[in-house]
Amino acid sequence: MRMYDLIQKKQNGYALSEEELTFFVKGVTDGSIPDYQISALLMAIFFKGLTEEETTVFTECLVDSGERADLSAIKGKKVDKHSTGGVGDKTSLIVAPMVAATNMGVYVAKMSGRGLGHTGGTIDKLESIPGVNTNQSREDFLRIVNEIGLCIGQSSCFAPADKKLYALRDVTATVNCLPLIASSVMSKKLAAGSDCIVLDVKCGSGAFVKTVKEATELADLMVKIGTRAGKKTVALITNMDVPLGRNVGNSLEVIEAIDVLDGQGDKDLTELCITLAANMLYIANAADYDECVRAVTKTLHDGSAKKKLADLVAALGGNSDYIYNPSLFKESKISAIIAADRSGYIYKMDTELIGVAAVVLGAGRMTKESPIDHRAGITFHHTVGDYVNEGEAIATIYTSNISKAQNGMELIFNAVKISDKKPEPKKLIYKTIGGKF
Ligand code: URA
Repeated sequence: MRMYDLIQKKQNGYALSEEELTFFVKGVTDGSIPDYQISALLMAIFFKGLTEEETTVFTECLVDSGERADLSAIKGKKVDKHSTGGVGDKTSLIVAPMVAATNMGVYVAKMSGRGLGHTGGTIDKLESIPGVNTNQSREDFLRIVNEIGLCIGQSSCFAPADKKLYALRDVTATVNCLPLIASSVMSKKLAAGSDCIVLDVKCGSGAFVKTVKEATELADLMVKIGTRAGKKTVALITNMDVPLGRNVGNSLEVIEAIDVLDGQGDKDLTELCITLAANMLYIANAADYDECVRAVTKTLHDGSAKKKLADLVAALGGNSDYIYNPSLFKESKISAIIAADRSGYIYKMDTELIGVAAVVLGAGRMTKESPIDHRAGITFHHTVGDYVNEGEAIATIYTSNISKAQNGMELIFNAVKISDKKPEPKKLIYKTIGGKF
């Protein structure tokens, strides 16, 4: 088999066979196919797509490029949750402890990633808590889930072929392709071994997919792949036209997650977390949906979900005092306010640009190797639909040096549009495939 022929076949719009997809993924994994041929095939797929059948087979090949987790040592139903990537999305830090705190026999064996492009990652957020080590051995991961009902580990240890492909997609403008996103996400979820998967498919200016139509197509595809692999899989399509919650940046987001776990968090963020957590219990057959909602809501008011987060932090070697006393998180060296240059309604927030601003401030990586400034980020004092007076603070930025502050502030200033017209409110959750809300 020759890569040249596979590239030409896809370029001409034909479906690749199982043998051809297996050959491709094997060659990616063992390094025998050069990057330029891999990139050429990715570009051909970007333009010609993959059929549903090809996407399913491709996903299985990606799973088989590495290990599959064996979670049989965990007693009870195992559930995982995944967001396709957003700005200010700290839901995993909240929903995993909520589900575990209900004690309804559902275990959260969650695999998470680091920030990608303008989007943040749960692993980076958790690591802003001193001492936390998310790189636990397989045995310790299983032990922690059995002992406290949840653990969060690194998804990067699964589907090594996807890791290589993602790095190439990132630099060849081929990330934004539905079958490639679906196979990339689902390969890691299937390898991670849970019985049930709740997908939070983000949609809007801060997401990889911008429209509800595209998000529905992506969600449909991922649910089909999960279901065909024997996993109970549902998807919620949720708004990413504004950052989720009021904070973007690693330790700022952990502090905001603690606010939600104290029952005092941002309204939309809290509502989305309740919906995601209730769906995780519901698809694991813990109870009917309304009872699941009641159970997870209770964990925010009786302190049990917060205790679970503290238990998780301690189990990962971190200092759980930070969860009970968030003022221990150190502030960044520099902070500055961005003020409204006119009075009016906040009409629009370009959320991708806000994600880029967070990266520029130090909250994300400019290159694969760059270190993260866990304290850097943005706190928004207003959101879309709010009326602001000229000179009023819209946001505060946190960073470590003046030039990052200037660049970040300029980006945020350009991202937030103020108008005389009040915008129409948008939904928080657009629809679900197989779940409830
Ligand atoms: N997240 C992933 O893991 N892969 C993608 O392709 C996009 C988002």
